[in-house]
Amino acid sequence: MSPAAMPSSGNQGSGAPLLVFVPSAGMGHLLPFTRFITAVATMGVDISVVTALPTVSQAEAEHFAGLFAAFPAIRRIDFNLLPFDAAAFADTEPFFLRWESLRRSAHLLGPLIAAAAPGASAVITDVTLASEVIPVAKNELKLPCHVLFTSGATVLAFLAYFPVYLDGANADHLVGDVDVPGVRRLPFDHCPRVLRNPDGLFTKQFIVNGREIAKADGILINTFDALEPEALIGLRGGKVVPGFPPVFAVGPLKSTPTTARSSDKAGSPIAWLGEQPARSVVYVAFGNCNAAAQKQIREISAGLEASGCLFLWVVKTTILDREDTAELRDVLGDGFLGRVQGRGLVTKEWVDQEAVLKHPAVGLFLSHAGWGSVTEAAAYGVPMLAWPTLGDHKIIATVIRSGGFGVWMEHWSWQEEDSEERSVVSGAEIGEKVKEVMGDEAIAAGAARMREEAAKAVAPGGSSYRSMHEFLAMLS
Ligand code: UDP
Ligand code: UDP
Repeated sequence: MSPAAMPSSGNQGSGAPLLVFVPSAGMGHLLPFTRFITAVATMGVDISVVTALPTVSQAEAEHFAGLFAAFPAIRRIDFNLLPFDAAAFADTEPFFLRWESLRRSAHLLGPLIAAAAPGASAVITDVTLASEVIPVAKNELKLPCHVLFTSGATVLAFLAYFPVYLDGANADHLVGDVDVPGVRRLPFDHCPRVLRNPDGLFTKQFIVNGREIAKADGILINTFDALEPEALIGLRGGKVVPGFPPVFAVGPLKSTPTTARSSDKAGSPIAWLGEQPARSVVYVAFGNCNAAAQKQIREISAGLEASGCLFLWVVKTTILDREDTAELRDVLGDGFLGRVQGRGLVTKEWVDQEAVLKHPAVGLFLSHAGWGSVTEAAAYGVPMLAWPTLGDHKIIATVIRSGGFGVWMEHWSWQEEDSEERSVVSGAEIGEKVKEVMGDEAIAAGAARMREEAAKAVAPGGSSYRSMHEFLAMLS
């Protein structure tokens, strides 16, 4: 038996189970990993983290550095990726390319983990790497393998069912509505648009990962029962896919103060929020991977100005933070920053979004509906105005709507239907809607209810608390 294949006898004699994490690229993937890692680090678990270097984005580099500095007991296993010819995939976005590069180097993980983490109890990996890492963990290392899914349970149900849908439709890509059994019918237009391309890297990865994930020993997911009841019941009861692995809903996961890069220095967003009245500020941010077009940015600025509300706006003009060299003044146009001085703060910098959403001054979140953002808004009871950009965001918007804590502008698009052209939502419409949802008492009550449910879920005896302990009990 190889050292890594030995039953868990504890890491270096500490008696604690040893978990080996294999995260993927992109802050939306890395953050839930580090939140889970830091949660279990304080629950008697030893931890090693496989770290592919250099990271794709500056934000990831800083995040890893913060994690290892704050938790010196967590061991880093450096993972040197094999050379990867990205030129073969023209027009593919940088995070998909990194996922492919990680996948193509995944066979190196067996010997690497065996040598660096002898006596490991289990491997926990990201869904984007599932079809490559699950066989390495189970067949080679003889270890249980769990997937930490970084989107919601409704998206997980869609992913798990997608191969069955393809077989039924005799297709190799998305061709119509997807009726996820026991969960919901997802119209063609709500499903990730990228899956319409049979030849795309993402489509191929998505399908093989969807098939393999059924072989995982368990799925950890940053959600909670009250947020996605149908999807969790459907997955756990075998309605979505018979025999699906156990699903542990352990959210909402929160950052520990040591890993959150919070700053309340003078002039920072948090310091500025401190000067504003309760529930008066609209927070506007569309995630790490969405570069808005110049025309749309100008309309958003007009809308925020017209809304009459206070606002904090994180503007991103490139997908990769390292490439974002544009000057805000040029992006926003002459005079805007001057006109809104005192009532709007605009930044291109990374903000500690969790700290922003936790702040009592924030009354609305205009968001792209990425899962990280949605779980944070739910946890802190911030009403949402959802403007989904791409990928799984429209599926997630259905969760916001059914959860009653936000409004989804279904006709607001970032792209013309059936074309790659950008469409533009007018400033007038954005301004009207922001004002309207800011004053919507039913949505505010829905958000407050969701915050209470989230707090109950993670409190002792709550559904996520119990799921977390069931998962930990499986390791020993
Ligand atoms: N985030 C942040 N500061 C930023 C931008 C993003 O803290 O300036 C965090 C945010 O809180 C969330 C994650 O990055 O946890 C983004 O994940 P999400 O799923 O919302 O969107 P993605 O970027 O993956 O599309
Ligand atoms: N995803 C997946 N299987 C894959 C690749 C991605 O399930 O092979 C998930 C991923 O976790 C995300 C969703 O599909 O939740 C949509 O991907 P997107 O590119 O929007 O990822 P994001 O950058 O928003 O996390």
